[in-house]
This record gives sequence, structure tokens and C-alpha cells, in this order.
Amino acid sequence: MFRKFFGNVIDWIYPPSCVHCGKAGALICEDCLSKLPAVGEHYCSKCGKPLKPRHFCRHCSSAAFRFNASRAPYLYDGPVSAMIKSLKYKGSLGLVPILSKLLSDFWEEIKWNVDVIIPVPLSYKRKAERGFNQSEMIAVNFAKRIGIPCVPKALMKQRDTLQQVGLNAEERKENLYGAFAAEPKLIKGKRILLLDDVMTTGSTFAECSSVLLDNGAASVYCLSVATTPIDHRKHKMLDAQ
Ligand SMILES: [Zn+2]
Ligand SMILES: [Zn+2]
Repeated sequence: MFRKFFGNVIDWIYPPSCVHCGKAGALICEDCLSKLPAVGEHYCSKCGKPLKPRHFCRHCSSAAFRFNASRAPYLYDGPVSAMIKSLKYKGSLGLVPILSKLLSDFWEEIKWNVDVIIPVPLSYKRKAERGFNQSEMIAVNFAKRIGIPCVPKALMKQRDTLQQVGLNAEERKENLYGAFAAEPKLIKGKRILLLDDVMTTGSTFAECSSVLLDNGAASVYCLSVATTPIDHRKHKMLDAQ
């Protein structure tokens, strides 16, 4: 209630403008909202990366992610990356319900059988610096919309890691190794939906899934608002800058 009132006062003093095109009136304007870059109908059925019509991407044909599947409605591009960056780095919390609504619309298409939603955690230090965990805020709002409980405490990030940007797949794996810890009694036998803002190489989802499965989770599905495309020339998954 207080936050809502406070938010309204802030809007009145500083009217919001579109985080992508700058048009005054709302954090994301109707025009940009109608032009979000969709992943489209062809995607890897394991990791959800956009593909030409083909079943698995090259990564998923040769290596095994331990999660059951990962999906994202949008590409990390245009208004979608503008919204995610504005939320993360400028604290535009008004985007949380907008992004959660986009996810809950997409959920109608996938509707995996899951028992709980767990956001990808930030380390204590990073969360304190930013003041919030964007993935947790999206997860809490999304969970209410689809009526599945959100259990942020089930997964913790117990140490800081390097920014993943610029690291290759092997380095990312090493960087994340041992960084996460799960609370076994909150996940035992549970089918889990792991939620993050952006999926890049999938190394964060992979590491979190391993920790959840090793601590007794029955299955893990991954959902992000956006996914970066695969660079087919270098066969590298692109970074979310
Ligand atoms: Zn706009
Ligand atoms: Zn794949």
C-alpha cells in the first residue's frame, strides 16, 4: 500500500518514459509493447534457443543439460533488452508486473507440471548492492498470476562469482561451480520451475538445476523472459550485454 502510494508520487514528480524509445507516458509504450521480438515457432526443444526448423540445437544434440527443458517467449533484443536493463540497472520496478504478465501469457502455451517456482538467486552481496533481485521480483509476481507457490529460500547463492559476460562455456562452468546451495527440505520430490530474467549459454540454469536435482528435486524446468540467439557462424551462444 505504502509502496503503491510512494510509486504514484514518484510517477507524478517524474512522469515515466518508455525505456526503449523514450516516449513519455509509460515505462514501456504501447508501440514498443506491440513490437517485442518473439523467439518464434522454431526453437530447440531442450533449451528453447531459436532455430531454423530442426529439433535440437547443436549444443543439445551433443551435450546434456540436466534440466528437462528451458523456454523463453522473447529474444534478448530491442524493447525486451531495454526493459530488462532498465529494471536491473535503473531500478524501474514498474516493469516487474509488465514482464510478469508477458510471462504468464506465455505460460498458457507451456503449462509444465510444476509444484514450486524458484528464482535464480543473487549472492547476498550483489543483492545488497542492487537492493533487489530482479528475477525474484518477477518470480513472485508471476507466481501469483499463475497460482503456483514461489519459494525463493529454496536456492541460495553462497558466494560471489565473476560476471559471466566474456567468459566461454568452460570458464562459466568453473566460475559457477559450487556457487549455489539448495535447501533439501523445501525441494525434496518437488517438480521445480526455475526462473531467471535472461538465459545466455544456459550455464546458470545448468548449475542451479544440478544443485536442485542433487538435493532431491524430482525435475527442473527453466523459464526466462528472454534468451540470447545462437551465433551460428561461431556456434556460440551470445552474451546478454
Ligand atoms: Zn516505446
Ligand atoms: Zn538447445
